[in-house]
Amino acid sequence: MPVECCQVCGHAPLANVLALGYMPPVNQMVPIGEVPRQQPWFPTNLFHCSNCDLVQLGLAVDPVIIFPPEYPYTSGTTKLLRDNFAELHAEASAMLKLGPQDLVIDIGSNDGTLLSNFKNGGHRVLGIEPTEVGKIAQSRGIPTVARYFTPATAAEVKREHGPARVVTAANCFAHIEDVHAIVEGILDLMSPDGVFISESHYLIGLLDRLQYDTIYHEHLRYYSLTSLANLLQMHGLEVFHARPIPSHGGSIRVYAARRGQQPVQPSVAKMLAAEPRGEAMRKRLDAFRNDVMLSKLRLLAMIRDLKEKGARICGISAPSRASTLVNYLGLDEAIIDYVCEIAGSLKIGKCMPGTSIPVVEESRLFTDQPECAIIFSWHIADELAPKLRAKGYGGKLITPLPVPKEL
Ligand SMILES: [Zn+2]
Repeated sequence: MPVECCQVCGHAPLANVLALGYMPPVNQMVPIGEVPRQQPWFPTNLFHCSNCDLVQLGLAVDPVIIFPPEYPYTSGTTKLLRDNFAELHAEASAMLKLGPQDLVIDIGSNDGTLLSNFKNGGHRVLGIEPTEVGKIAQSRGIPTVARYFTPATAAEVKREHGPARVVTAANCFAHIEDVHAIVEGILDLMSPDGVFISESHYLIGLLDRLQYDTIYHEHLRYYSLTSLANLLQMHGLEVFHARPIPSHGGSIRVYAARRGQQPVQPSVAKMLAAEPRGEAMRKRLDAFRNDVMLSKLRLLAMIRDLKEKGARICGISAPSRASTLVNYLGLDEAIIDYVCEIAGSLKIGKCMPGTSIPVVEESRLFTDQPECAIIFSWHIADELAPKLRAKGYGGKLITPLPVPKEL
């Protein structure tokens, strides 16, 4: 479905601010050795709404395609995310004085990493997760409803489990197409004094650190606090606390409640004041487009130099964002020999989306010692690089963005 008017305020026409070309769905990974079959590729364009400043993709792909049941992403495998969710639990339970009877519902609960903190904290928990990953949560003792989140799902969950004191949506609130139905569903789940906590990739951080690689079809919307607060306000929800967090290379955690239920903290006005709006946002986005183009040419020039010297190049880790980088640059198996994932990753044995670059277990890096490794999850390079060195990798380590550089 093409997005012809703003998904939040309905304004049209939207301004095209970035075109990354056609991209395969990031989570459709073909097993190594399988003859490639016909696969859909989708235009990946970013649009800006001049009315409410929401930045959004120009196409909403059917969730059945982007979140297939075999969806291989698990949040528990990243230490940064585990730490973040532990911290979210500590902050929320202290600020909201949560009791043992309070129900916490996580939308897009994945492998249950976020909820396990609330469960260990003694609260009642329930996950909603449409993909197979929900079974991992179930096996860890986190009750999980295997459904897409819709107002009907919300109504059914509320009937069965009662209203929630806290509803969380971490990095999935930007994923679902009909955002107003989602907010209505969340509102329906919340008790009168309930709180909605969302974590979303932060547009301003995306622009500042040139994280165009986080643009892919799972992420329909790229929120600033301005655009997110505006959306919530349309449903009677008031943002009362907001702050930047490190997840996914820069995200925002936003607390909202029914208007007047919670005192609004100074953090909200402070963040809003620092964000560009209207014409200033348009100019910021124009500069971003130019920087993205330059970044592609610089990275390709660096890779060309390495290949001319006969270097073998591999990739470190295969997060979804690697798919955008690989496909936007046009990297293939002749350039990147393989991509390493830590043992246990469900991506091992498959190919990078849109390519025949195999994803292999990390141990290969240490026996092979390729001359060069590009860290595709460059946003956690500080966490990864020392580990790779400690395990004995001696080649060049390169971070591709915001400016390609050797560590
Ligand atoms: Zn709008």
